[in-house]
Amino acid sequence: MGVRDLYAIDVEKLRGVGPKRKDALHKMDLFTLGDLLTHYPRRYLDRTRQAWIADLMEGEEATIVVRVLRTDLRRLKGNRVMVTSTVTDGQSQMTLTFFNQRWRERQLKEGLEAIVFGKLESFRGKAQMTSPVVDLVGDQTGKIIPVYPQSEKAGVSSADLSRFVGEALRRTITNDDARRLADPVPGWILHDRGMIDRSEAVRGIHIPDSQQEISAARRRLIFDELFRMQVSLVRRKRHLQATQQGVAHSSDGPLIRQFRDSLPFPLTGAQERAIAEITADLVRDMPMHRLLQGDVGAGKTLVAVAAMLNAVDGGHQGALMAPTEVLAEQHHLGIRRLLAGLEVPEPSSLLGNRPLSVELLTSRTGGPDRKRILGGLAGGLTDIVIGTHALLQDKVQFQSLGVVVIDEQHRFGVEQRAALRNKNLDGSVPDVLVMTATPIPRTAAMTVYGDLDVSVLDELPPGRTPIQTHHVDAPGTLDGEPPLALEQMWAELRASVADGRQAYVVCPLIDESEKIEVASAEETYERLASVELHGLKVGLLHGRVPAEEKDAVMERFRAGELDVLVSTTVIEVGVDVPNATTMVILDADRFGIAQLHQLRGRVGRGAHASVCWLVASPTTADGEARIEALVRSTDGFELAEIDLDLRGEGTILGERQKGRNDLKLASLRQNREVVVDARRAAIQLLDLDPELAANGELADELAVFSAEADEEFLLKG
Ligand code: ADP
Ligand code: MG
Repeated sequence: MGVRDLYAIDVEKLRGVGPKRKDALHKMDLFTLGDLLTHYPRRYLDRTRQAWIADLMEGEEATIVVRVLRTDLRRLKGNRVMVTSTVTDGQSQMTLTFFNQRWRERQLKEGLEAIVFGKLESFRGKAQMTSPVVDLVGDQTGKIIPVYPQSEKAGVSSADLSRFVGEALRRTITNDDARRLADPVPGWILHDRGMIDRSEAVRGIHIPDSQQEISAARRRLIFDELFRMQVSLVRRKRHLQATQQGVAHSSDGPLIRQFRDSLPFPLTGAQERAIAEITADLVRDMPMHRLLQGDVGAGKTLVAVAAMLNAVDGGHQGALMAPTEVLAEQHHLGIRRLLAGLEVPEPSSLLGNRPLSVELLTSRTGGPDRKRILGGLAGGLTDIVIGTHALLQDKVQFQSLGVVVIDEQHRFGVEQRAALRNKNLDGSVPDVLVMTATPIPRTAAMTVYGDLDVSVLDELPPGRTPIQTHHVDAPGTLDGEPPLALEQMWAELRASVADGRQAYVVCPLIDESEKIEVASAEETYERLASVELHGLKVGLLHGRVPAEEKDAVMERFRAGELDVLVSTTVIEVGVDVPNATTMVILDADRFGIAQLHQLRGRVGRGAHASVCWLVASPTTADGEARIEALVRSTDGFELAEIDLDLRGEGTILGERQKGRNDLKLASLRQNREVVVDARRAAIQLLDLDPELAANGELADELAVFSAEADEEFLLKG
């Protein structure tokens, strides 16, 4: 039976599912046999390993099979209720306690058999669990009982689900091999990996006879999820490459040569490698879709500029889009400086040349300038434009946009990437380079950016002194008597200012509201300016500072007129002041790893030794782990791996993965090697069979699974 059939048969076709059950299952998003068979157990009760109340130590977590003896509801003060249930495992008794779950009184009827999972406590000398997970498995027999995610609200218990799934299995897989699930994964892929077939795996995950069966089933089904994802990503990528008409750029024009000759330093090996990879893409007439990953300070800007110059060399244009005005302006300044003195051919001019033009276009660009720049872009007189979202407006048209660079990708949506690609008056599709300064783990990149090729700058330019990072154990609020370590920190900051250096102080992150955050930043500023940093020239920057004032403050800091910049996270990305060598982050445990790493990357950009102080008294284990990671490592890629470990993949996948493509069993965190393996297998298969002509079942499965997710998923062509 093929996957298309599975997803075509309604659950109501199952024995025991009438109209009421059907509604209940639909409420749980279980519409078809396919949905049901991929509604996997969340754990198993292994009767051979089941625990007894009397054997448990206090504080130990366990799964126990119990029968309910008695359940009572008690009203507490303030309209609260407590339900207590006395249960037995056949030998000893314990109490289950629930607060404000009135419905438990009805659920835990006398005589009910249930599986409870929780931590054993002792209350007045009696065994107790508070708010344990309760699963109703009914009177199922068997050694290993699957425990399904159930729905109290829909009135569907784990035992019900077990029955329906059993029914669905009987309808689709028979023991005598007469009926099997079609296996969409080619035999050689399974064989190479020693994996069991689809039918066996589906049966093994739902009605296993042993732990080994469960693991073999999980292994296969996890592979399937990741393989499906990789095949569709790789296929999509190849499809885009094959169908879009891009610009074939030159690889070695005069501009790129002059540019390289003019650099005051040699490129790093990683920069050379990335430029070579990009150039190889650019000379082909397929459009490039490449991600440039590089740690803060790795020198991505140069690589981007080289890519855009390739375009200009061939008579095309380049555009760089940054996520904020500050960044766009800074890129504009920096890139103008890098390209000063370069000239492009201009037959109509007296000398046959004109200066290469680099313009800035943001929503703040004034009328006359805007008009001139728009004209320059449409007429081809503007060679490179740096901008913000403003570049996406309809009015912005290019004569021939050859290379688009998108900085800090995670702030732009897929749609916006697509919008920039359709800006050419002649309909050609520019090459796209996406840059991210927040490294993400390789396996996550394969998934989130699986439709892009990836270049990595994994080497910092030489001569940087590594940033020393210290944890100062103190609350970031500065109230009360400051601990010694904090006083020392401020003393060191003042000493470095006395040496001519500059410093950042980042204020506590306040999620609740920008208003409170601003107020707190102002307060921190006042306090520092009058106490800890008294006598220094201190500036303040936050989200509510008007644009002109923000510019003025940034400019004064850049020019060295301010010693210290007190700021919210507005300085997070890209701000480049090499003379700033101290970074203080208050309440650092509130920030994520990536954000801390970004903030820290604002220092350590010049020849002087830099230091980062993380001021925090972490109140959670995760907070502590984040601080520890930052103190231990300055490697963005290593930190990204730790971040994935701490946070899981949810935040990374976030936006891009929706609908049925959701990973049900697979985890980017726990199955890193499988991601790599699945991608390898996907590439092998698509090399052999690009259109999946000989793998119809797989093509079908991909179509079924992507039907819902298609809209938001992946690149739009
Ligand atoms: P990123 O954008 O990757 O964080 P940048 O492109 O802003 O990094 O570069 C950081 C700094 O390093 C800049 O001041 C730049 O001029 C300098 N830089 C870039 N490449 C090199 C190199 N190969 N050698 C020395 N300095 C470099
Ligand atoms: Mg940068």
